[in-house]
Amino acid sequence: MPPALQFEGITKEYRSWPRGKCVRALQQFSLSVQNGEIFGFLGPNGAGKSTAIHLAAGFMRPSSGIGHMLGKPFGDAATRRRVGFLAENVALYHRTAEVAIRFYGGLNGLHGAPLDRATRAALEAVDLQSESGRNLAQFSRGMLQRVGLAQALVNDPDLLILDEPTSALDPAARVAIRELLLKYRSQGKTIFLSSHLLSEVELVCDRVAILSRGCVVRTGTLSSMLETTDQIEVIAQGISPTLFANSIVEADRMRFTVSKSQQREAIERVWTAGGEVVSVNPVRRSLEDLFLELTAPEPNSAEWAGKTSRASSAGPCSFYCFGFWAGPRLESSPIRDPDPTTC
Ligand code: ADP
Repeated sequence: MPPALQFEGITKEYRSWPRGKCVRALQQFSLSVQNGEIFGFLGPNGAGKSTAIHLAAGFMRPSSGIGHMLGKPFGDAATRRRVGFLAENVALYHRTAEVAIRFYGGLNGLHGAPLDRATRAALEAVDLQSESGRNLAQFSRGMLQRVGLAQALVNDPDLLILDEPTSALDPAARVAIRELLLKYRSQGKTIFLSSHLLSEVELVCDRVAILSRGCVVRTGTLSSMLETTDQIEVIAQGISPTLFANSIVEADRMRFTVSKSQQREAIERVWTAGGEVVSVNPVRRSLEDLFLELTAPEPNSAEWAGKTSRASSAGPCSFYCFGFWAGPRLESSPIRDPDPTTC
């Protein structure tokens, strides 16, 4: 079975008129998302996450490289019906929640009784059934985000692409959405989740990729990324806090770290002192620590967003360059990308 989502060597450049400024949002970007996993897509603002998602959704084309979604090239119309997409900023017209969801279901080819059922199920999934008759103009930001999620779910998609799905939600709604995503995965569906809420990502994702300046800087399972290789945390009881220099006292227990090579010796010391070892575990970094480490700006480099540098002095991950392209702003004509060589 082909991967649910695959980016292969994709570069995406945006050009603006009239100054011809070129921004390279993705550089030789490659990523593969397997079927049935919840994949976290992380990166600081401006790293290129939305660009990657919009390319996958077929809203625009890459400057170079190729991508496949559910085995078909990006932009394949029939495949889009098997995909649910939630953009970071949901634009919804002033109509009732039910009418809005029915509209999106209709766009996905549903009608009649199946559309009724799908609309009801989508609104129930995000706990908005009791609000279905209210106009969206009266909804809070969090409620609108749930409507956005309902429209992504209405076609019972095989692949869900979610850009910041829980940023406006309160803790209870976040828990509900987390459970919903886990339920989806248990049905064999794939979820591609872009989020700044690293604690949420840690709770639901099987694998993550961290994007920085348009390049993937790390990808893997959370456990492999967060476990450090050389430090072990030992929890023991029945020993004096002075036995290990770096002990932290927690009720009647001591917690301390030792290097892997000292693990055996430390355990024997606990036993010799008449104590008991409660647990021995590799030290885990937090996802936040890893994220900050991998996405820190390079020393002396121009700030990522909003500044420019000459193409001639740009390194492999430095994307601001000047070019000339005598056409309309790219963002107003997303499908007809200009020749990337003009960048
Ligand atoms: P993220 O989603 O990670 O915040 P984006 O994909 O939105 O990142 O942006 C990546 C880079 O591309 C940024 O420098 C951003 O300013 C630039 N960019 C995004 N969209 C456009 C656009 N339509 N026109 C010009 N530049 C853009």
